[in-house]
Amino acid sequence: MQEKASEKVKYNLNPFAIAQWQLDTAAKKLKLKPEICALIKEPMREIQVTIPVRMDNGTIKIFKGYRVQHNNSRGPYKGGIRFHPDETIDTIRALAIWMTLKCAVIDIPFGGAKGGVVCNVKELSERELEGLSRGYIDKIDQIIGPEKDIPAPDVYTNPQIMSWMMDEYSKLKGNYHPEIITGKPLSLGGSQGRSDATARGGAFMIREAAKHLNIDLSSATVAIQGYGNAGSYIAILLKELFDSKIVAVSDSKGGIYNDNGLDPQEVLKHKNKTGSVIHFPEAENISNGQLLELKVDVLCPSALENCITLQNAEHINAKIIAELANGPTTPKADEVLFERGVFVIPDILCNAGGVTVSYFEWVQNLSGYSWEKNEVYDKLDRRMTKTFWEVLKVSLEHRINMRVAAHMIAVNRVVEAMKLRGWI
Ligand code: GLU
Repeated sequence: MQEKASEKVKYNLNPFAIAQWQLDTAAKKLKLKPEICALIKEPMREIQVTIPVRMDNGTIKIFKGYRVQHNNSRGPYKGGIRFHPDETIDTIRALAIWMTLKCAVIDIPFGGAKGGVVCNVKELSERELEGLSRGYIDKIDQIIGPEKDIPAPDVYTNPQIMSWMMDEYSKLKGNYHPEIITGKPLSLGGSQGRSDATARGGAFMIREAAKHLNIDLSSATVAIQGYGNAGSYIAILLKELFDSKIVAVSDSKGGIYNDNGLDPQEVLKHKNKTGSVIHFPEAENISNGQLLELKVDVLCPSALENCITLQNAEHINAKIIAELANGPTTPKADEVLFERGVFVIPDILCNAGGVTVSYFEWVQNLSGYSWEKNEVYDKLDRRMTKTFWEVLKVSLEHRINMRVAAHMIAVNRVVEAMKLRGWI
């Protein structure tokens, strides 16, 4: 109990403190000099902006926005934009660090950044949302650019928002610039396979982990926390690709459980109709806490940070945790899970499919040529599968968990780039 309390005190479950602690851990293993470690622990640049938006009732409402650029030694900054009522600068700092590490471990030529606007999209009309999206770009246009910093979607942002943002940037610059942002609709230069890329990449990682652990996915049970873009697509894909049984899913309002398996498409229809997965016919309502502790083969946290902590790590009953969310597991929980033999596919590997297809989208936009869907899937699969075995090798060699192994590979690549460029 005392230790449980100490985790809260130590990081206050602050994602930035956690990301910095993770960097310290990798740096120690890599025997990096303290000044190099100090450099990678801080964002290169961060801005806070104030965005006035004219609301439908004629009043002006003020919103706060941020863009944090962590490290661009390996290429332009890259990372999504979140619209969330609880957004904080520290969450965005952590997410920016994780983007740098994600792009490095998967070996795409980008650095890491993240943006956010404090708002509740559910309370905004379509017109107000467009005004806010355009207003955000007006305030950050000087520090973004196709060769500088390329945003993308994240929690509560989508292809329509990317379209408005691309249009606003193009207007400001006087030229058409689809390559300024990724995650666009297909008709505006989006890539085939981008909409379900995060989940598809995650499905490939689950497939490889199952191979490693000798788990047959066609008889595997799965629980999914979060039913947004990543969560709903992973449910659909795991059933479609491997015929796995999705026994439980949840969203912010609660979860549902059916021992015989749920139909992910029907659950999605129910959620779109009623606003939540709960009260789905032929399923029992459960809490998010209960979902995380179910006895399943695969657990996919697909919502926000810090859902697996020291409080519940001992009660996790899954064989594989596939982190489709960013930062769902705290450092102390990681230790407990590793000791208990739970195989965690860490976020920067498990959810790297999104940014990988974003990279493909950017390449296609720059070359003015679009690829077939199967070409995208194939390139994504090969890159992610190769990375999985690279990370596993380091983890087995050093007897460390997959997260520390992935961080070591990523930090090493970032440091190498900084050295070659003469920064350190
Ligand atoms: N927001 C996604 C992530 O956290 C995708 C970022 C991107 O496509 O640039 O990885």
